Amino acid sequence: MKKIPFVTKEQIEKIAETYPTPFHIYDEKAIRENARKLKQAFSWNKGYKEYFAVKATPNPYILKILQEEGCGVDCSSATELMLSDACGFSGSDIMFSSNDTPEGEFRMANEMGAYINLDDITHIDCLRAETEIPETVCCRFNPGGVFQMGTEIMDNPGDAKYGMTKEQLIEAFNRLKELGVKRFGIHAFLASNTVTNEYYPTLAGILFALAVEVKEATGADIAFINLSGGVGVPYTPDREPNDIAVIGDGVRKQFEAVMVPAGLGDVSIFTELGRFMLAPYGGLVTKAIHEKHIHKEYIGVDACAVNLMRPAMYGAYHHITVLGKENEPCDHKYDVTGSLCENNDKFAVDRMLPQIEKGDYLFIHDTGAHGFAMGYNYNGRLKSAELLLKEDGSVQLIRRAETPKDYFATFDFSDILKDMKY
Ligand SMILES: *Cc1c(COP(=O)(O)O)cnc(C)c1O
Repeated sequence: MKKIPFVTKEQIEKIAETYPTPFHIYDEKAIRENARKLKQAFSWNKGYKEYFAVKATPNPYILKILQEEGCGVDCSSATELMLSDACGFSGSDIMFSSNDTPEGEFRMANEMGAYINLDDITHIDCLRAETEIPETVCCRFNPGGVFQMGTEIMDNPGDAKYGMTKEQLIEAFNRLKELGVKRFGIHAFLASNTVTNEYYPTLAGILFALAVEVKEATGADIAFINLSGGVGVPYTPDREPNDIAVIGDGVRKQFEAVMVPAGLGDVSIFTELGRFMLAPYGGLVTKAIHEKHIHKEYIGVDACAVNLMRPAMYGAYHHITVLGKENEPCDHKYDVTGSLCENNDKFAVDRMLPQIEKGDYLFIHDTGAHGFAMGYNYNGRLKSAELLLKEDGSVQLIRRAETPKDYFATFDFSDILKDMKY
């Protein structure tokens, strides 16, 4: 599918008068429409709720939009819990799906009334040691082996650090029951960024069968099945996006085939989507500031991997549109680079694009999730602003750009920098 930015060159020129590039910009209207489609797709399930994975886009303005659309939040750290608390999420609006959990975080989550999702059987004792055992507890499942759909290997749970084995999960349910837990959840995340309508229904089939087996083995009252994240987006233009209505219906079919006959027709379905909720509705806007002709052709831009790490970290493809040149032929081959002293700081390698001039604005697509959030500060580079394109077409600053002062803030205890003039 042809990728079209949700902003034009004219809009960006205007925005850049107030907010210099680089910046991430999010499309409020599209975020809301997509959240509504998701809700509709699972409306057959009475207790359905999406818990947005905060780590994907940890911005309070974004969380508020999703809250208005009926979403909760999925947190896995103390600061994500704090952010969610400040945004007004509480109790069953919060899923705490942590792993390798630092001491004190279960207590914090429990005091907020969040659902706690235990990554390991040994965490039962950690939970007990720091807080009262809640009435409802979720356990995370890892089936091991490879996760296959038909003949295609989707991912490798046997190699993943998350979750517990089936035997451990059954033992955990029995122990938790003895400790007074009344209701249970089951969670698994078996494949990331799946661009197929079959992932969730296949996962649901596995978890529903597990729920029936666990209920028979332990007598546990199953309250919810958490399908977690993993529904993806097409980063490349040659792929078709997932159809969430088809996905929801596929899960419904599994539910009716497996859960309803087992007397589990009241169980709620939860999701913890991050990428699907936000990725296509955010873009990184950056300006071409240099061109360089050596053994290859380079375009240097004012953003770098600090603003978007996925290409450097995973070799991930992000589509690029040169604003105002949407209809020009892609007859130039470029590496599009940032300024880090790291040769992997490239947003694109050997990418066919229209001829780029200094001053052109580039729109890097699909940065709305796991984009800004992964940023770091290598080479002393600062993180950018985040902007919201609102439904009425106006633009709101939803995070200011970092300043050198932010970068040096962790030395505020020290005398060496106290007379710094920046
Ligand atoms: C990262 C994560 C998610 C969201 O994953 P996406 O790929 O963004 O959908 C959901 N749940 C847990 C526990 C996660 O770690």
